[in-house]
Amino acid sequence: MVTKSKDLRTGHSIWESIPAPRVPHGPLNRNVKADVLIIGAGITGAMVADCLAEAGLNVVMADKRGPAKGSTTASTALVQHEIDTPLIHLSRKIGKTNAIRAWRRSRLAVDAIAARLEELDVRDVRRRGSLYLAGNLLSKDGLAREHDARRRTGLASRYLSRKDLGDRFGIARAAALLSYDSLVIDPRQSTLALLKAACARRTVIYSPVEIVDIDAATRGATATAANGRRIECRHLVFATGYELPDCVPRRGHQINSTWAIATIRQPRRLWPEQRTIWEASDPYLYLRTTSDGRIVCGGEDEDFSDEDKRDSLLARKTQTLRRKLKRLIRNADTTVDFAWTGSFGSSATGLPRIGRVPDMPNCWVALGYGGNGTTYARIAADVICGALTGRPDTDADLYDFR
Ligand SMILES: Cc1cc2nc3c(=O)[nH]c(=O)nc-3n(C[C@H](O)[C@H](O)[C@H](O)COP(=O)(O)OP(=O)(O)OC[C@H]3O[C@@H](n4cnc5c(N)ncnc54)[C@H](O)[C@@H]3O)c2cc1C
Repeated sequence: MVTKSKDLRTGHSIWESIPAPRVPHGPLNRNVKADVLIIGAGITGAMVADCLAEAGLNVVMADKRGPAKGSTTASTALVQHEIDTPLIHLSRKIGKTNAIRAWRRSRLAVDAIAARLEELDVRDVRRRGSLYLAGNLLSKDGLAREHDARRRTGLASRYLSRKDLGDRFGIARAAALLSYDSLVIDPRQSTLALLKAACARRTVIYSPVEIVDIDAATRGATATAANGRRIECRHLVFATGYELPDCVPRRGHQINSTWAIATIRQPRRLWPEQRTIWEASDPYLYLRTTSDGRIVCGGEDEDFSDEDKRDSLLARKTQTLRRKLKRLIRNADTTVDFAWTGSFGSSATGLPRIGRVPDMPNCWVALGYGGNGTTYARIAADVICGALTGRPDTDADLYDFR
């Protein structure tokens, strides 16, 4: 096997109930050749394929489930430029200069996602500011320091005292940081739209097709599918999400479990400005709204990856999320229409792993961990597309295996 198989998600994600474009795909019945093979047709594979196809490369994709059928459909799809690891904490881990680079790059990536989804006329993409509430990771003093650090790097933010927060948003917390220009999307629609755009530029998606073996040579790679058919390529990209490739060093990475709910529609009960809301806590609770007036709320993360244990907790975690949601947004109706759970990756720094696989010269990984997976998918697309088209990305070293 090439990747560790997982049951990525269980329950009913809200996105599966919304009609989405069909993307052409089919079985792999013969051996094929391509410039690039991307394994995985989730949001990461889709962004990489879109960039490479636009650059004129001949791309094929293989997915054992189907387009957008992995973790992508479990995502609550807050596309934040604010990294899960606060800037002041990331500075301690990787140095101030690199932490600032990583934060700025995420900001650019969110703008790039917004621009591309707008170009493709994807529905349900909304610009949203965010509210970052004081919690066990950053108290009100910590938030003040974070605010200061962000402001000094040119990242706009505003510090709200308890009173400001209460008066403007009706939320009772010691303090919050307000920031601008993140996104909320429908991750399934967005992924399928990007894949459709890639297919219009001659990308071919083979699915359901599981890649079970890879022979990486100096001039390219050959991937073998479960039915014995082969795909020969000059470059190979693992965009396999939380089913980590065996060849990728795991140090510093962990697969956890997380839960989410979507309420009934309640457009008149939503909080002012509908900013995304999240806590400076570990684990953190987070909220967003949908274009039809629901509240999506997630969190309650646990440090285990056992899928049976994860699934057995769905009913209990749903009740906990409802309770916490009510405590935060007093006006909310917490009646649940959708509840789901999934595996979730994290890394010691909160940064993704994007780069050439050690000892496999033509193979790349694009593994976006944590709550910024969508933002990192875009960075992966830029880094990999840049490398394969001879214009290396200036931030590539932030994410590679060194
Ligand atoms: C409950 C929940 C909430 C989340 N909320 C957010 C959020 O608000 N914002 C955010 O940015 N991120 C969020 N995430 C994370 C986000 O879902 C992931 O970062 C993102 O979906 C990863 O996309 P991907 O394309 O890398 O992986 P996937 O969507 O899982 O795609 C990988 C694909 O690879 C295929 N594959 C694997 N191995 C093989 C093989 N050997 N052969 C063929 N195919 C293979 C799989 O079938 C799969 O379809 C959340 C995740 C969960 C579970």
